Amino acid sequence: MKSYDAIIAGGGLIGSAIALELARNDLRVALFDTQDPGREASWASAGILSPAPENPGMISMVPFGKASLAMYPEFIELVEELSGIQTGYRTNGTVEALFSRHAREELNTIVALHRGLGLKAEAISAQEARDLEPDLSEETEAAVLRPDEASVDNRLLASALIEAANRGGVEIHAGKAVEAIWREGSECRGAVVRGEQISAKYTIVAAGSFSAQIAGAQKYAPVRPVKGQMVSLRCDSARIQRVLWSERIYVVPRNDGRILCGATVENAGFDKTVTASGIHANLDAAIELAPILARARVEDSWAGLRPDSPDHLPIIGPTDVGGLLIATGHFRSGVLLTPITAKLIGEFIAEKTPSVAWEKFSPMRFQAANETARVSGAPR
Ligand SMILES: Cc1cc2nc3c(=O)[nH]c(=O)nc-3n(C[C@H](O)[C@H](O)[C@H](O)COP(=O)(O)OP(=O)(O)OC[C@H]3O[C@@H](n4cnc5c(N)ncnc54)[C@H](O)[C@@H]3O)c2cc1C
Repeated sequence: MKSYDAIIAGGGLIGSAIALELARNDLRVALFDTQDPGREASWASAGILSPAPENPGMISMVPFGKASLAMYPEFIELVEELSGIQTGYRTNGTVEALFSRHAREELNTIVALHRGLGLKAEAISAQEARDLEPDLSEETEAAVLRPDEASVDNRLLASALIEAANRGGVEIHAGKAVEAIWREGSECRGAVVRGEQISAKYTIVAAGSFSAQIAGAQKYAPVRPVKGQMVSLRCDSARIQRVLWSERIYVVPRNDGRILCGATVENAGFDKTVTASGIHANLDAAIELAPILARARVEDSWAGLRPDSPDHLPIIGPTDVGGLLIATGHFRSGVLLTPITAKLIGEFIAEKTPSVAWEKFSPMRFQAANETARVSGAPR
């Protein structure tokens, strides 16, 4: 029987970064993926690195996102060096354009909120915004510059992580799905792959939106997919340097000249169809933000599945089954949260004190919620 220190189910950004981290800690690691690793959400993503909360529910994640963003320069340097692959990491900040007549008041609120959370944000006038980003719409009333935010080409990063993990000794098994956790009593002995039991001291479920399909993992990783559609453009006359945002869209320039526009947020199960309305919504909002994009050539469009959890927070950490760990549910921030997730899993396995508080992301929180519902007789 094959035996490892650690088995990882899923080779997206999260699984491959964990694999690399564990291999660098001298563990014998095997990574299994249903298909070629890095072809799901980690491929479909926009790669924006922003810890700013999108809504009040996400405020509790800000310190976690900030900690991960702070790790990025070193993380990228390491991964690029180990893999020999450049990842298109851009550190020139992001600009959010405001269009409403009340932009000035909105601006003050946004900047105060960011500063209150310890995030850098500068209020800038429409003219200052267009001096930085000349393609911004003339309808822009004011803008927020977030100088610390960045972006990365998530597809290149996913390839680089897999390559670095491979070079670091991780066994990568593409086209082999983990069907089930191999559990004996309160211990996880490894995983079941194509009917074969594969033994490991630690089994880490990092299968993104598909994590709940692995038998035995569902109650710890009750994730569901949230569809996002994206469009990729090319426009020789565009001069966009930074990630641009409006209330309706983000526009992300890549080093290879592509300009990504996205993304829709849809509850459509595992469907990844690109729809006319999805493309329309993305292009309409992108052209409103940067009118020059009306002249762009549409190069590609795609959809991906964000792994969402019941409380929209990531699910990271050990379970009550010995040796079973979960790392999923990163929803809209999985690229941002890749370095910190890998670090925390590595620290747990190495029995080190976690460098960041992670209790609120525990896979056990759903058990507690179920228990409360049962005791109080609330409907489930
Ligand atoms: C349109 C869109 C835009 C986004 N934009 C951003 C952004 O700007 N910034 C940001 O930080 N985040 C963004 N995200 C979110 C981010 O992409 C995800 O949170 C992140 O990629 C999740 O990574 P993952 O490795 O957990 O999952 P995935 O990348 O989905 O990887 C899961 C892997 O598990 C494999 N798998 C599935 N089932 C099994 C099994 N049974 N056994 C073995 N392997 C299995 C899959 O094949 C896949 O390779 C976006 C997502 C989408 C869809």
